[in-house]
Amino acid sequence: MNDDNSRELYDRALSVMPGGVNSAVRAAIEPYPFFVRKGDGGHVIDADGNRYVDWVMGLGPLLLGHDLPEEVRAAIQQRASEGPMYGTPTEVEVDLAEFVVRHVPSVEKIRFVNSGTEATASAVRLARGYTGRNKIVVMQGGYHGAQESTLVEGDAENPQPSSAGVPRAFAEHTLPVPFNDEDAMRAVFEEHGEDIAAVMTEPILGNYGIVYPEGGYLDTLRELTDDHGSLFILDEVITGFRVGGLGCAQSEFDVTPDITTFGKIVGGGFPVGAIGGKAHIIESFAPSGPVFQAGTFSGHPVTMAAGLETLKFAAENDVYDHVNGLGERLRTGLSDVLADQAPEYTVVGTDSMFKVIFTRDGPGKTSLEEACTDGCRQKATCPRYDYCPKTSGDVKDAETERWRRVFWGQMAEQGIFLSQNQFECQFVSYAHTGEDVEETLEAYKEAL
Ligand SMILES: *Cc1c(COP(=O)(O)O)cnc(C)c1O
Repeated sequence: MNDDNSRELYDRALSVMPGGVNSAVRAAIEPYPFFVRKGDGGHVIDADGNRYVDWVMGLGPLLLGHDLPEEVRAAIQQRASEGPMYGTPTEVEVDLAEFVVRHVPSVEKIRFVNSGTEATASAVRLARGYTGRNKIVVMQGGYHGAQESTLVEGDAENPQPSSAGVPRAFAEHTLPVPFNDEDAMRAVFEEHGEDIAAVMTEPILGNYGIVYPEGGYLDTLRELTDDHGSLFILDEVITGFRVGGLGCAQSEFDVTPDITTFGKIVGGGFPVGAIGGKAHIIESFAPSGPVFQAGTFSGHPVTMAAGLETLKFAAENDVYDHVNGLGERLRTGLSDVLADQAPEYTVVGTDSMFKVIFTRDGPGKTSLEEACTDGCRQKATCPRYDYCPKTSGDVKDAETERWRRVFWGQMAEQGIFLSQNQFECQFVSYAHTGEDVEETLEAYKEAL
């Protein structure tokens, strides 16, 4: 596979950009990532003309794939050509806010911002301002963007900044606990309950190999936060308008957070974030309340139009049936491949999210008939149950180096673009086809 142009571009990029990229994970591919020239349906074409089936889909935002339906494209072009933004409100912001409020049960009011990071940073400030408390409980390995309060590792006893440049004083207010561990969460509330402003988690860990919640876990978080006067923040930046369709993962899991953060899909491929929730909480944002929050580009008309038309298209067409159906074909197909070639590995994901975690141990080839075939659901009766990843630590213990250094390249050689490391999620779009799925399963068979 010729990659002369990508190499040359990366060489130029290294001279003027740190690591040659504008977002760290893009450089995870070694020795250099391929540069994309353009998208085409469910595929991308790189700077050297190589074509790949694209399961990265912008790392989550592109529900419809690269070819936008005519109505989405037209709305974006019209907004861009009428003057991109104004510094005073536009109707399309209200339209998108109304759409989200109509479809997501827990959201009565919403504020739009420009990235998922900005959404989670604002949500944390909102929770602190609303409750008058400082501490935030997060999941170990959970990702909420590049912000001070969540770039924290370690445990609740000994939280540490996970990045240079984050003052220890920030980390002291953050309490990381293992996902799916009710006892650890209860212990943290026993010790710090009166100081906890909020628990923030993804409903499904989507940035750490995909870890599904155990039955009842999210309900426990809801109860504990209620009992202690803390807020429950569900970070649906990935799962929003992907898992559970237009009702988002909270409707799939039947849980009602106080605050939901959105990003990715809700901007239809343009920079976006949003903080939604109960009216009396969201009203704490300035100007109606005391928590300062503002942004020059917030509610950008081009983004709002792209998000609104994307979601309207999803509401009026078979988008979720299509992406979830192909997701299921991928996950069950991968389960079959693994049963044959790597029974210790675990298929994870739900709806239109999928991944194979290179776990090191499993129950062996026997007794796999009763295993979850459509992605791990943490089912206690599953023969894999004891081996399936339940926390970020379990995923970290997998063969992450094989995935990154060997497997990713073997797939790319076969024209399949997978996410850049073991931890990032992969996504099905409306533009993908059954043929893409078959080709991908064949490539996994070859590479594993
Ligand atoms: C991507 C992501 C973010 C950060 O969003 P950006 O738009 O990259 O700033 C936050 N939380 C979750 C769960 C995400 O997946």
